[in-house]
Amino acid sequence: MSHAAVFERDNWTCHLCGGGIDRTLRNKHPRMVSLDHVIPVSDLDYPGHVWENLAAAHLRCNTVKGGHATERDWNLYRKLLAARLAERRWCKWWTPEERNDTPLTPSA
Ligand SMILES: [Zn+2]
Repeated sequence: MSHAAVFERDNWTCHLCGGGIDRTLRNKHPRMVSLDHVIPVSDLDYPGHVWENLAAAHLRCNTVKGGHATERDWNLYRKLLAARLAERRWCKWWTPEERNDTPLTPSA
């Protein structure tokens, strides 16, 4: 997975402060984009370097964030995980119209 894909998914918005991120900033600028581990690497329950545990954040917001996940971090992680799993429930050959015609029936 590319970092750019995560930043696009997050619409270039910092998940920590909610502010927009200027994608042209570089060179350790405090407001440049960085890839944050939602559940930090140092947390005992770190889920890994996976799509649902990565989010866009300002470099400074990322740096000052603590080493342990908060309830808010877990909520975001669960939301991203649910979104990824929902995407995977559809085989890719369905057209959008066919998807809409066919409501999902959860298997037992
Ligand atoms: Zn921020």
